Amino acid sequence: MKIDILTLFPEMFTGVFSSSIIGRAQEQGLVNINTINIRDFTSDRHRQVDDYPYGGGAGMVMKVDVLAAAIKSIYSSSSHIIYLSPQGRMLNQKKCEELLQYQHLILLCGHYEGIDERVMAWIDEEISIGDYVLTGGELPAMVLTDAITRLLPGVIDQDSPLEESFANDLLEYPQYTRPQAYAGMEVPEVLLSGHHENIRRWRKKQSLLRTLLKRPDLLLGKEYDQEERQLLEEILFSGEKTK
Ligand code: SAM
Repeated sequence: MKIDILTLFPEMFTGVFSSSIIGRAQEQGLVNINTINIRDFTSDRHRQVDDYPYGGGAGMVMKVDVLAAAIKSIYSSSSHIIYLSPQGRMLNQKKCEELLQYQHLILLCGHYEGIDERVMAWIDEEISIGDYVLTGGELPAMVLTDAITRLLPGVIDQDSPLEESFANDLLEYPQYTRPQAYAGMEVPEVLLSGHHENIRRWRKKQSLLRTLLKRPDLLLGKEYDQEERQLLEEILFSGEKTK
């Protein structure tokens, strides 16, 4: 997958994308991430990217002619253009999985008061990372790029996303590593038993339990299999401990 990010501040991305899993994924050619400076598409002497809003009001608006030129410079028929915007649909794991179908994503980062509305003619969808207003689309573009990249084949252990939070509308079960005991807190015995089936069942039950406690909204739209129904009954009617 290729991800092109249109931004006024390409330098903001350097550290984030050169480190850890995303950095490695690029080195291995599993994803191709580029930042493109919108200011390179100005045609005036002052390299002006924004202007005062028609009708008055606070702040500056990013110019349609500059943004259109930037988009056209990288657009092809396989491109899917996303405007990071607080007015968009809220990002979730399902949306990240859906976006894997595209070979080329173009992420447009707004700044200041946002973009001239006429740029929306080029936008396929608007995505928000939450109901709050940030100074620019750069952090949301980083969030989206990270969340998608780790789902690409070969980037992380193939089985990881299958058991992680939000897979199957559940949160992930609790995890432990050495030491076995710390400050009087023990690792649950079942995890030391080596009994794979008991471990699998315990983890499924813990996933259901913590989803019920932390994110009951996820359970509302969920389809349950027989085992999940039985485990939920055990949780609800047998006084399952939460710690
Ligand atoms: N005036 C706009 C409004 O009220 O809807 C907000 C503009 S905001 C200050 C500047 C830019 O930050 C936006 O164009 C967008 O690209 C980005 N942005 C801010 N909050 C965001 C969020 N929650 N999700 C995604 N992008 C966001």
